[in-house]
Parts: sequence; structure tokens; C-alpha cells
Amino acid sequence: MGLVRRFVSKETPQLASLGDDDDLVPMRSEVRTLALAAKGFLSEQEGDRLFILAQRCSRIAPCVEIGSYCGKSTLFLAEGCRYGRYNLFSVDHHRGSVEQQQGEPYYDPELFDEHTQRHNSLPEFLKNVERAGLSNCVIPMIGESERVAKNLAGIPVSMLFIDGGHSLADVEADFVHWSKLVLPGGYLCLHDIYLNPEDGGQAPRQVWEKAQSTGSWRSLGILGSLGVLFRCR
Ligand code: SAH
Ligand code: MG
Repeated sequence: MGLVRRFVSKETPQLASLGDDDDLVPMRSEVRTLALAAKGFLSEQEGDRLFILAQRCSRIAPCVEIGSYCGKSTLFLAEGCRYGRYNLFSVDHHRGSVEQQQGEPYYDPELFDEHTQRHNSLPEFLKNVERAGLSNCVIPMIGESERVAKNLAGIPVSMLFIDGGHSLADVEADFVHWSKLVLPGGYLCLHDIYLNPEDGGQAPRQVWEKAQSTGSWRSLGILGSLGVLFRCR
């Protein structure tokens, strides 16, 4: 009992509640409609969880997402950030992941830029953010994730959403370089966690488990494929 109490009291409390409180502001319906219509890979339920977390966390420090793509997750997160004093840093080189290149399963010809002869999701991203009236809540960071993280070393992050490259090397690099910026008590959200390997790639799940094995991150559960951890020390 004594040991248990000591362990519990040493643990950092969560920075912000997960959101059952009655002072949460609902998402504007026109922004929800735009988010659902945006190209991307996120369910409405997952988006709602990000929205609520961002609404809480943006009062404390900036929020960060890796993997802006066309702005689907961005609209949920940035809508949450309208209520705090801090913004969302949305990081993407906009050149697409391996599986989004020509000939690959997630290739989208509408995002192919004839001029540069490569994938470019930036115009679609900016259009969606602008239409939602959220330009003031998002700071687009156009660059390679690890490089951006190293340049931002030391900034406090209240909430980190990792949904960039999905190879093990990419997810691990995002975890290693970004998670250390998350404040004690802050959140780490990982997308595309599949407990059944037949449902999808296993890299995010491996990092999800690795994070918990460090003892610094505690699971708050998985909704759809969105896992939420909080930094307990
Ligand atoms: N969150 C989005 C989906 C992101 S798809 C949604 O809600 O729909 C993954 C994105 O990660 C792609 O746009 C790709 O360009 C970006 N990405 C992949 N590897 C990256 C890296 N190393 N640095 C920056 N962006 C990367
Ligand atoms: Mg994803």
C-alpha cells in the first residue's frame, strides 16, 4: 500500500482533462462539414477526440501535428485551438509518403503537380484551412519532420499528434525527436494503431508499445486507430 501510494504520488498529473467538463465549446457545424469533406484519413470520432484535446491543451502551450496532408486532422485540431491562446504547428513537406507516390495504393492524381512533376498537398491544405477561417490558428511548417523538430528543440508542446510517414523508421524518428518536447502531463496521440496486423501496418503500434515500455507514457486508450498517451513523468 505504502509503495503504491508513493508510486502514484510521484506521477505527474495530466496537464488538461480529456474533456468531460461542461465548459467545452462544440465544433462549429460548418467547420465539421469542411473537415469531413476534406481529403484525408481520419474518422469523425477520431477528429472529435483531437478537437477536444486541442481545446484543452491550447490553453497551456502550442499543439503540434506531424502529417498535415490536405488538412482533415488539421481542421479538428485548429478548431480546438481557437479557444486557447496557443496555436497548432502543422508539419508536412507536402511531398507525400511512400504509399502516396505515383503507382502506389494511396496515389491521388488530383494532388499531382504537373509543373513540378510531383505530389503536392500544400495548395489543398491551405485552401481548406482558409475556408474554415482557421488561418490564424494554424502555423504551417513546410519541411521534413525531423529537421523541423531539431530546429524547434526546447519549445514546450502540450499535445503532439503523430500521423506522418508510416514506416517504422519514420514513426520512430517522429517519436524520438518530437516526444521529448511534450510537457510533463501533456499528450501524445498516435494514428493508425492496428491491433490486428490484417487491418494495417504495424509501425505505429510498435511505437505505441515502445513509448509505454519507457515508463514515461501511460495509455488513455485507443479510439478507432487513434491512441492517446499522457506523459506521466
Ligand atoms: N493527418 C492527415 C493524413 C496525413 S498523411 C489526415 O488527417 O488526413 C501523411 C502525411 O505525412 C503526408 O502528407 C506526407 O507528406 C507527410 N510526411 C510523411 N513523411 C514525412 C516527413 N518525414 N516529414 C514531413 N512530412 C512527412
Ligand atoms: Mg493516419
